[in-house]
Amino acid sequence: MIAVSRVAVVGSGVAGTAAAILLAEGGVDVDVFELKPDLSALGSGITLQGNALRVFDRLGVWEKVKEAGYPFDVLGLRAPGPEAQVIAQIPDAPTGGPDYPATAGMYRPDLARILADRATEVGARFHYGTTVESFEQDADGVDITLSDGSTGRYDLLIGADGLHSSIRAQLGIEVEPQRTGMGIWRAFVPRPKDVTHTDLYYGGPVYIAGYCPTSDDMMYAYVVEPAQDRHLLSPEQGVQVMKELSRGYGGPWNEIRESLDDASRVNYTSFTQHVVPDAWNRGRVVIIGEAAHSCPPTIAQGAAQAGEDAVVLSELLLSRDAVNQSLWDEFHARRLPRATEVVDASVQLGQWQIDHVQDADVPGLVRRIAMLVSQPA
Ligand SMILES: Cc1cc2nc3c(=O)[nH]c(=O)nc-3n(C[C@H](O)[C@H](O)[C@H](O)COP(=O)(O)OP(=O)(O)OC[C@H]3O[C@@H](n4cnc5c(N)ncnc54)[C@H](O)[C@@H]3O)c2cc1C
Repeated sequence: MIAVSRVAVVGSGVAGTAAAILLAEGGVDVDVFELKPDLSALGSGITLQGNALRVFDRLGVWEKVKEAGYPFDVLGLRAPGPEAQVIAQIPDAPTGGPDYPATAGMYRPDLARILADRATEVGARFHYGTTVESFEQDADGVDITLSDGSTGRYDLLIGADGLHSSIRAQLGIEVEPQRTGMGIWRAFVPRPKDVTHTDLYYGGPVYIAGYCPTSDDMMYAYVVEPAQDRHLLSPEQGVQVMKELSRGYGGPWNEIRESLDDASRVNYTSFTQHVVPDAWNRGRVVIIGEAAHSCPPTIAQGAAQAGEDAVVLSELLLSRDAVNQSLWDEFHARRLPRATEVVDASVQLGQWQIDHVQDADVPGLVRRIAMLVSQPA
């Protein structure tokens, strides 16, 4: 017998949907409760590293991800200024192993749809516009009350409800995401034909300017600046700010800047970091993904780490016959040090820029994390 037969998942991001797929595939009855009214049809892009692609293969969606996304194996470094001089083209570490590209860019709503379709196919049920208002647990299960007033009893409750997790707060875990001092403008724009991989431009008017192709036609572009309060700006003002900030960058940026308009869905987000430093569970309730840890996307490991949480948790739940301390000990031993190291390194990379450290060992740090995440979680 497996450790759980009924599981409630709160949140349908990468962490929640990945857990739902793996558990439902393993014969568990799974309900996913998602606050949003439906599967969002709008969004920006995401950069997925090889170890995230390996997770997607485990979920049975790699072929679809490959088809919908834009795989590449090189990271470009360019100089600021009108020439946008190419400084280096570095082979990206294939952290998923030789069966996957080093990186793939992807339109976030495509990824969400592929994952949700797979979860539904293997039997998980999605309840949109619904959340878990409260829960109570005893030694054998968790009683939940939903926002529509209905109730249910489950063997396990998984809080995969993201950065501002309500399940984390209800568990009494007081760790909260902290701003790292950087903020990012992102836009979803047509792909200039010469953009075939991510290029990063360090220095110039902002900390980093960059872009990542997500399909033959489209890509997302970003500029990272000192964090500031941008929430009062209108969408039109956001477009103007991004145009202004990107003026220090040439090459493909000339075309990107021209294409920025109201349709580019320009948005601003502050970078955050946190790791719940001890247990991610209290009894039969556990948090995973960004509910448990967040990192600035300086190494683009957020989705990979969220997916790996789901893989390890599901593997343990499906291979053990009880939800007990030994299961949680193994879960934390496999996830906490790895997630912490990724968060610390991602923060360090940003901090070196904030502090204008010239001789930082960026390649050494990136290599160390690539070696770490190349090992299956
Ligand atoms: C600016 C920025 C850029 C990033 N770029 C990258 C990148 O390029 N590559 C990468 O790998 N990672 C990136 N990340 C990180 C990545 O997006 C996250 O790590 C990843 O999405 C986390 O997945 P998750 O499932 O844990 O959380 P989420 O994706 O946040 O999903 C949580 C879900 O829970 C739902 N929810 C919230 N509250 C409730 C509630 N009370 N009840 C029910 N549902 C609820 C939300 O609506 C959401 O659907 C970036 C992050 C930021 C901020």
